[in-house]
Amino acid sequence: MSAEEFRKHGKQVIDWIADYMAGIESYPVRSQVRPGDIRAALPECAPEQGEPFDQILADLERIIMPGVTHWQHPNFFAYFPANTSGPGILGDLLSSGLGVQGMIWATSPACTELETVVVDWLADLLGLPRHWRTDARGGGVIEDSASSGSLVALLAALHRAGRARNTLYVSSQTHSSLEKAAIIAGVAKENVRIVDVDPDPLAMRPGHLAELIAQDLRDGYTPTMVCATIGTTSTTAIDPVRRIGELCAEHGIWLHVDAAYAGVAAVCEELRWINDGVAEFVDSYVTDPHKWLLTNFDCTVLWVADRAPLIEALSVLPEYLRNAATESGEVIDYRDWQIPLGRRFRSLKLWAVLRWYGAEGLREHIRTGVALADELAGWVAEHDDFALLEHHPFGLVCFRPLWPERSVADAEAATISLLDRLNDSGDIYLSHTKIDGRTTLRVAIGAPATTHDHVLTAWRRINAEYRALRA
Ligand SMILES: *Cc1c(COP(=O)(O)O)cnc(C)c1O
Repeated sequence: MSAEEFRKHGKQVIDWIADYMAGIESYPVRSQVRPGDIRAALPECAPEQGEPFDQILADLERIIMPGVTHWQHPNFFAYFPANTSGPGILGDLLSSGLGVQGMIWATSPACTELETVVVDWLADLLGLPRHWRTDARGGGVIEDSASSGSLVALLAALHRAGRARNTLYVSSQTHSSLEKAAIIAGVAKENVRIVDVDPDPLAMRPGHLAELIAQDLRDGYTPTMVCATIGTTSTTAIDPVRRIGELCAEHGIWLHVDAAYAGVAAVCEELRWINDGVAEFVDSYVTDPHKWLLTNFDCTVLWVADRAPLIEALSVLPEYLRNAATESGEVIDYRDWQIPLGRRFRSLKLWAVLRWYGAEGLREHIRTGVALADELAGWVAEHDDFALLEHHPFGLVCFRPLWPERSVADAEAATISLLDRLNDSGDIYLSHTKIDGRTTLRVAIGAPATTHDHVLTAWRRINAEYRALRA
């Protein structure tokens, strides 16, 4: 593709994306295709001869778009948001355009140094401790996902503790990525302890954690890492980090915090309470600007309070990567902070987002999501036929229809058909969780396009479908 052709098609693609964003409400939120539909519409082999770009775009419209679920749709309320934004997309495009491989400082100094600056900026914006900054003992790094960030933290914890019958502590509400991290890091499944949670709001019980640790010490295990969650995936429960931290400090256990979804909410001062105990006790912390902070996937930030165990755990230096800058000790080589060697210039998109919105713009985005969630929770609470989960500090609201006069089994089936009918309609998209064995609807608000009217319409749709199913 010549520079002129690139310019022409590049403009076409930007126009296409701008039209997509402007017209997104014309699509069904969740893709309505059946398994295999998209694959069947595509040729069996790659073309022998090159094809014009116009044809690729035409097939995108005709074949690919029906199979796309529209995560940026204002009526997308499933899972958690995966925000994009104009500056995020453009920053990502610049990263693609430069095509930099930033595995070590020497392979592109700006890729490393901009990353250091933006993760330090973000630590300040979230009110995280000064000593986590790279100019102190800590440091941050952009990873592809919270899953990778937690795995890397576990590897650092194992390195610090030494490998000897290591145990990991999570709760039933901890994200599945921690269980996966244990598998990958070679912590035996039977050495992953499940700490009890309180019934409401499903937060880890420090008393039970203390018992498990004491028992493990008596049995000759090495309690190695506790993962506390700030904003669980199921219901955004918040584990008591301070009390967990006191236990970890007493026994020298690594405390990791998974704040994948909710951590970015701390851009707002009024939400900083979620990080109580973090500054004093936490060894590592992950949050995802790629969920609720307007930055295209993938962009997770992992911070460590002390970077030494992380780097010691993951450093290898083959001959072909030896260079004077690394040997001088004056530079950071982020390949030592992650699993893969290679890395994209991800800081460009985060830089673009932080600069375009400014702290004020980011706060406004988070506050809008929280306020809309409060409004929805108010409507649910007023309705006699729905049970609301009172805890909703962020953008997620959980509730379930009560189906008066029905047995538990019938009520369960009815809730599931309610959810299916809503999602099959293409009008809105919700997901679910189970609380005390009961299927519960999750409405996660946080797409930048979502307004008061969208949330109100969604609530009316849920009600209308509920009435239809009750009749
Ligand atoms: C979404 C989520 C994850 C996984 O995030 P990825 O970045 O997709 O790996 C982990 N933990 C929590 C609490 C989450 O909500």
